[in-house]
This record gives sequence, C-alpha cells and structure tokens, in this order.
Amino acid sequence: MTPTRSTFAGLSTWEIVFWYCLIVISTAIFAWGVLRLILKYRRGRGSLSVDQPLRRLRRTAAIVLTHSWIKRRDPVAGAGHFLIFYGFLVLFAGTVILGFQDDFAKPVLGWDFFRNEFYKGYSLFLDVFGAALVVGLAIMAYKRGIQRPFRLRYWRPDRAEGEDGRRLYVIGDWTFLGILFFLGLTGFLLESFRIAETNPSFEVWSPLGWSVGKAFRGLGLTGGTAADAHFVQWWVHGVAALGFVASIPFTKAVHMLASPASVASRDDRAGRELPAIPPDAKPDEVGYGTILDLPPRYLLQLDACTKCGKCHAACPATNSGYPLSPRDLILDLREVAEGALGIRHELRLEPLHGPKENIIGDTIRPETLWSCMQCMACVEICPVGIEHVPIINQLRRRLVERGEMDSMLQQTLESIYESGNSFGEARRKRARWTRELDFDVKDIRNEPAEILWFVGDYASFDPRNQLVTQTLARLLRHPSTRYGTSTPLSAWTGTSCTTRNSCSSSSMTGASRPRRRSTTASPTTIPARSVATTGSTTSHAECSRRSGPNSSRCRAAATIRSAVGPAADGSG
Ligand code: SF4
Ligand code: SF4
Repeated sequence: MTPTRSTFAGLSTWEIVFWYCLIVISTAIFAWGVLRLILKYRRGRGSLSVDQPLRRLRRTAAIVLTHSWIKRRDPVAGAGHFLIFYGFLVLFAGTVILGFQDDFAKPVLGWDFFRNEFYKGYSLFLDVFGAALVVGLAIMAYKRGIQRPFRLRYWRPDRAEGEDGRRLYVIGDWTFLGILFFLGLTGFLLESFRIAETNPSFEVWSPLGWSVGKAFRGLGLTGGTAADAHFVQWWVHGVAALGFVASIPFTKAVHMLASPASVASRDDRAGRELPAIPPDAKPDEVGYGTILDLPPRYLLQLDACTKCGKCHAACPATNSGYPLSPRDLILDLREVAEGALGIRHELRLEPLHGPKENIIGDTIRPETLWSCMQCMACVEICPVGIEHVPIINQLRRRLVERGEMDSMLQQTLESIYESGNSFGEARRKRARWTRELDFDVKDIRNEPAEILWFVGDYASFDPRNQLVTQTLARLLRHPSTRYGTSTPLSAWTGTSCTTRNSCSSSSMTGASRPRRRSTTASPTTIPARSVATTGSTTSHAECSRRSGPNSSRCRAAATIRSAVGPAADGSG
C-alpha cells in the first residue's frame, strides 16, 4: 500500500463542490474584512505609507520569528505564544501544500508528490507541530484561567469596581483560545478516525493520530463506524477552520494581521520627538480631539493590541493609583475607532460613536491624560510596537490648546513661562550653583565643547540637588572630558538632538503663553558632539517623593515632557 491519502476520500461530487463553495465564501469574507480594515485606517489623518520598507520588513521578520519582543518580562507566556505561532504556521502551511497538490500540481501538472517519503515526513511534521499548538494553548489557558497575573486582569484604575466594561474582552479572549483548541482537537480526532478506519502501517509516521487510532480500535471501534465518525469529523473540522479564517479580521484574531504591521510601522523615535505644529494650524488641527485626528498608523496600532497587559503592569501611574492604564487607553480608543469607522459604518448601521465625536471627556478623561509620567515603559515593553506616549501627548496637546488644564497645573506653566523654570525663581539664579566651584564652567554659547550638559530645574535650584550637581561638575572636570553647560541660557530648556553633532534647544522663552502652543519656539543650534541632561524637571517618581504625589510641579514636569519629549529633561 503506497503511503499517501486522499483528501476527499468518501465524499461525493456535490459534497466536494459544496466544500469549494464554502472556501470561496470564507475567503471572500476574510478579504472583505481586510479591505474594511484598510479603509478604516485610511480615514485617519495623514498617509498610510512608511519609509524604508525593506529595512522595516527585515526587522519585523526578525522580531516576529524570534519572538524577541513577546518573550520580554514573561518568558513562559513567550514560550506559549511561540508554540502556538509555529504550530499554527506549520498546520497552515500543511493545508496550503495539500491544496496545491489537489488543485494544481496533480490535475494541472500531473505531478503527484504527496506520497511515500514526502508523505511520511509531512505527517510527522504536522503531528509534532499540532501537538505544539495544543501545548501552547494549554500554557496560555493556564495563565489566563489559573495563574491570572495582574496584567491579565481587566481591573481599571480609572473606573469603580465592576465598571470596567471589559466582559466582552474576556469572552473574546476565551473564544479565541477555545476555537484554536477546538481546531487542534478536531484535527487530531479526524486523523485518528481515518487511521482507525483503514489501519495502514505507514501511518505510524503520525505518532499521535496513530496512538489514538489504535486506542479507538482497542475500544472496539470498527472500520465502518470509524469511517462514519471520520466523515462527520471531516466536516466539523473543515467548517470550523473556514469559519475561523473568515473571522480573523473581526475578532481577537485580527492581531495576527495587525500586530506584525504595527511592529513594521513603529516609529523608532516614538515619544522622543514631538512633531512640530505647523505655524498656520487651526485650533482643531492641534493634537488629537476626535478619532479621525489619529493617523492611519495609530488606528492600525489600536487593532494590534493583544490585551497582554504588559504596559498595564509596567506603568508607574497604574501602579501608584493614578487613573491611567496605557492598555485601557488603547482599548478605549479602539472601541471608539471601531464604533465610528468599523463594521457598522460599512454596513450602513447607526454608528456607536460619531467620527467627529470628542474623544476627550467621557471616553478618555483629562485626568487620565495628565496622569502620564512620560516614562516610556509602556512603549518599551509593548510586544506589538504600540506608541502610547505620542498618542497621549497629542491628546494632551488638544487639552492645552483648549486651555483645559488643572488650575494648579496652569499656575506652574505660567511660572515656567514667566520665569523660565518650574520653581518660579529669577532667571539670574539659575547659575548660582556654580559659585561654590573653584573653577569656571564653560558657556556653550561662547566656547565649543565636546559634551553639552543641560542642567535642569531641580539640578539648578533645589538646594539638595545642587550638591549633586556640583559634585558631578567636579567629576566632569577630568582632563579627558570637555564639556559646557546651557546654564547661562537661563530658561527652562527642552532639547531635541537630531544628530550627534547638533542639538536644537527649544526654550519656553520667546514662545507664546502655555495654552497658545508653547512648544513651537524656533530652535537654536548649539555645537556639541553629545548631550547630557540632569534634573531639568527631575523624574516624576523623584519629584513626587520630594513634593508629594499630587504636586502641581511634578505634574507640570510630566506635561512639559509631553510637550517636548522625554529626552528633554534627562529623565527619559
Ligand atoms: S509613559 Fe505614561 S502611560 Fe506609559 S508607562 Fe509611563 S506613565 Fe504609564
Ligand atoms: S498596548 Fe501593547 S503591551 Fe499594552 S496590552 Fe496592548 S499589546 Fe499589550
């Protein structure tokens, strides 16, 4: 008996025709779903295109295939996903090979390769990877259902107990795991019934199916009954598989498409550089106020979120009780995007959200946005490359543009505007810490230096921090280090280094008042090979420790970081 098998063994012609009709329907629904997603993303502000496509493709392939981002901070979950990913990929490839053999190689080319050694190797490979898929699913089910780490719970810091509104997400998570498990299980049963029916010796190359098939026969399953069970199982498995394919663009499985695309489109400078506002921008073009203001790249990223909760667990705001979770922010925006631009829009149904609806208010609360400390932990840890911080900053920009700020926060910003620092100290006092030194500190405006040291607000004005600043200055005085400071600039200063050889200093001085686009001052180019910053507004954690968790200065500092980017104050 030649080692091979017939895909449609026992099926009549009309059943085969019906099967192909189902394939067409499933593929059409999948294609429509993908098209719908692309149309949704295209409704965002700006273009969908990216630079350096080949470099991005290579990088994405490396990240996705090695799971280097997914396994960070949770290697067990990473291993579970790895098994699911490769299990699914190999089973899918096996189905494609089968389709190629049945629909093209054999009928068109007369090439029947699906036999003998190829068939044995194919059977073994698919059996092993099918088992890997089931083991990976078991790991994920254990984590979600039994271990239940903090990151996988849908508790929200910005809603009262029981108001998280995440029940559908829980159902979606388990349905996704369940359908994959069902596909794996029915696939193995299908194979076992087929082997139990004919019992050929070469099927030992499908070790799992062979063992279960033998067990069935040992339990008294006869060839005829096994054939009937195989027929039923064939349709159950086949229809479930086609249903799953059709559902990919509409369910949690969408991350199979959106996540690699999100990794590919990720901006490597996310959160480190805030795009300038065009000088002629109208108020409703400053920042994001509606879902249509988000660029296509961010709309795509919203769909890429797998709800892994890593950002939620890493966020210091979430962990300190502030009403912010980067995961929930992304999911809230995703709900608005889907409600306004998603399937209901395509089906001409009443949308759940208007595309021009204000997203800052009930959906994303202002206090949620002001709670962000700009630490970038969420961006760094996200396995699918979502850029939370730039999105938060653009939403804040709209709030600042509208003048909707906490009154204490407003006061601090006024103070920065008037005195150039968040302490409200006179500008001339900024360089006072240098008086205690027995040497002069270079003024970068007058003399070139190898390193530019921005001495920020805390480092300049806080008496305890001044001691640290002075000590660092003495250490830096080593003959091999040639540095200068920006101290004489005497204003709160943000930096953005575009190359190692030039850094732009955007001072609040000369900018319009805070609510009037305070971040658009024209840059001053300062020659320096590299930049070091200390304590401009200090880190949020340090600031909170000194001034209390709700200090307006600390929150203003975080706001400023969002205005010019985390690198600006050295805490990023
Ligand atoms: S940048 Fe903001 S949202 Fe992200 S982890 Fe830090 S505090 Fe949380
Ligand atoms: S935003 Fe990223 S890190 Fe956060 S839950 Fe979604 S996929 Fe996970």
